[in-house]
Amino acid sequence: MDPITALLHDVLEDIRPRDGGAPAGYIPELAAADPDRLALAVVGPRGRVRAVGDVTHEFTIQSISKPFVLALALADRGRDAVLRKVGVEPSGEPFNAISLEPGTGRPANPMVNAGAIATSALIPGDGVDDRMARIVEGLSAFAGRSLWVDEQVYASESATGDRNRALAHLLRSHGVIEGSVETAVETYFRQCSLLVTVRDLAVMSATLAFGGLNPVTGERVVSEAVARDVLSIMASCGMYDYSGEWLLRVGLPAKSGVSGGLLAVAPSQFGIAAFSPRLDAHGNSVRAIALLETLGERFGMHLLESH
Ligand code: GLN
Repeated sequence: MDPITALLHDVLEDIRPRDGGAPAGYIPELAAADPDRLALAVVGPRGRVRAVGDVTHEFTIQSISKPFVLALALADRGRDAVLRKVGVEPSGEPFNAISLEPGTGRPANPMVNAGAIATSALIPGDGVDDRMARIVEGLSAFAGRSLWVDEQVYASESATGDRNRALAHLLRSHGVIEGSVETAVETYFRQCSLLVTVRDLAVMSATLAFGGLNPVTGERVVSEAVARDVLSIMASCGMYDYSGEWLLRVGLPAKSGVSGGLLAVAPSQFGIAAFSPRLDAHGNSVRAIALLETLGERFGMHLLESH
């Protein structure tokens, strides 16, 4: 085992005994997750992947799809068009809050559900299949391998997605969503149901870290300007109503999801990702946060630290 992998392994085993939190319960398929799964992966500038724990275990990407679909919307529509439909201010509210700007109806930011549904509606394409083709192609390029949808999780999300559907109807009433509400919301459910491993998330994170260039495949996925915009929004809004404390403690742009994934980006240095299904009250993974906080304390990853 090389020294970096050995070190990741040590941190993983230090955190393993923690058993706080519980898998997300509001999507039936997610409630069935094995709560003991644990994994950690890092990808450096030359695309070398180091991963420990349940590295081949697949789980649905959930809200971690949001920054990447945002990247595609920025690339396909431009920043001004995106900002007309969604804001970039931290909401300080839970991920499923009805956080719409008075007057315009714009969601606070693209990292909460309302903003992510508005962002998905900006992806070019006529129906769900067309838009998903762009999303699958784009997110697969970020991950460096072909991703696909877990149909069971998708069906479970769609069957229980009344709140997201309500948000989408509100967005449409304000003209934030211009086309079909069903297309917007089903696209969103499908993007959340894409299967990934911790390794995929680390490669996706690294692609943002290296300005939109995937360090494993060498493919340019988005421009440097798009990657920078996405990281800026992740830094202020990526961890929902824990975003401020996260920036204070770990100091890296990050994004979490309710299946227990978490990725963080050290610009020009590395992409990192962790997975553990037990969540805290914010909907963030307890042990994934503990892994990143521990690594941060031991190795000083905070972006705002002077060296
Ligand atoms: N699909 C989930 C939802 O919309 C994603 C939420 C999340 O990961 N925080 O409820």
